[in-house]
Amino acid sequence: MMTFPDEPCFYGNGFYIVYIFCMVRCSIICVGTELVTGKNLDTNSPYLSREILKLGYSADIILKISDDKHVLSRTLKWILKQSECVILTGGLGPTSDDVTKDAVKDALKLQYVFSQKVYRRIGRYFRKRGRPMPENNKVQAFLLKGSRILNNRAGTAPGCIVEKRGKVIILLPGPPAELRPMFEEQVKSYLKRKWRVRVYQRIYRLFGLTESGLAEQIKEHEARIKELGCGITYLAKPNLIDIILTGRKNVGRLKKIADELEPFFQGHIYSRSWKSLYETVARQLKSGNLKLALAESCTGGLIAKTMTDLSGSSAFFLFDVVSYSNKAKENILRVKSRTLSQYGAVSRETAREMLDGLEAFLTADLYVSVTGIAGPSGGTPEKPVGLVYIGTRYKRRTIVEKYFFPGNREYIRDYSLNKVFELIYRRIHDIH
Ligand code: AMP
Ligand code: MG
Repeated sequence: MMTFPDEPCFYGNGFYIVYIFCMVRCSIICVGTELVTGKNLDTNSPYLSREILKLGYSADIILKISDDKHVLSRTLKWILKQSECVILTGGLGPTSDDVTKDAVKDALKLQYVFSQKVYRRIGRYFRKRGRPMPENNKVQAFLLKGSRILNNRAGTAPGCIVEKRGKVIILLPGPPAELRPMFEEQVKSYLKRKWRVRVYQRIYRLFGLTESGLAEQIKEHEARIKELGCGITYLAKPNLIDIILTGRKNVGRLKKIADELEPFFQGHIYSRSWKSLYETVARQLKSGNLKLALAESCTGGLIAKTMTDLSGSSAFFLFDVVSYSNKAKENILRVKSRTLSQYGAVSRETAREMLDGLEAFLTADLYVSVTGIAGPSGGTPEKPVGLVYIGTRYKRRTIVEKYFFPGNREYIRDYSLNKVFELIYRRIHDIH
């Protein structure tokens, strides 16, 4: 029997075998008035599109729709003409504004059945928390007839999978804490088995390159890949690019082109699997038994937050000084007031003295300091918004780099974050 690994399985020569929805078009609909009005940010569709991409296919259409049964039902009918698989999130709650199930029922001309089993499960959910079950939660035990139920271990709304006339409609709850385990534990395995086609995939995860610069350099290779009927996808984040090559046929020739591409990526590859830059760096710090100390200014603790997002980071992460103000830089990190007045808080000299301060505080193997102008205010012609200094000290060698990351506050901080991880990677591997 064929098995379906969680991670794509290694095929050799850098290629993985993945199973894709070949010729299957997929759409995602996020339901919720709070999303359309901009009150809440949609984080479900980026998560879902990323996860289905790992399975080897991508979503063609992503929509946000308010809690309006008729609009949703009409849109669903339309989208089912374009897509074989539609994933809906949100609108499965017990209140009258939760209309997703009704809209799907109307669009597909289905019926409801009452499930005692689901009703008892919802009851248990409330009993465990010592609360009586509100009457309106009963609606969550009415299921779309013929659907496959997806248990919700983090909430009361069950999800479901409906198969009708060759189409698949997947209903998931809106709260990410409910949706993610449901997708991970139940939907993923369903999707892997539903339409399985073997494809070959090679992934390059790169740092320190720009997407447009790279695309220009490799445009001839890209054209050849497309001529073979194979695919090349770019996924870019500040300072990070993923290049994904996929092919069902002409795999031998695709491999040859992939090998020719390697020199363009030299010194910029941090992973050839779906491991993130942070996971890669964390593993290396752990295995090298290296301890890290941080001093953050413009990133305001973002680096420490990312470091501690994964459990087990105490093995390498010692401490962070969020020295946002000059006072903190002076009083905690002992940056000289003369340095601050002469060169400024955003300067090579300050970044260096922040490292000195960290080292005086506690011994580590690697020290990192970040100071910059995230904006939107605070920039000058000499020191514009986006100017960032990053200092690293490893094996007694100090390097302070000056960067300019033009963009808004969020972009500058994200760029600084990903640059810090790149620099840690480079210092550990002695790559310059
Ligand atoms: P629901 O009751 O299923 O409509 O979900 C309600 C809650 O889930 C909302 O108040 C949001 O906090 C969250 N939520 C719904 N849709 C999304 C989404 N697309 N991205 C992130 N959070 C969401
Ligand atoms: Mg809702």
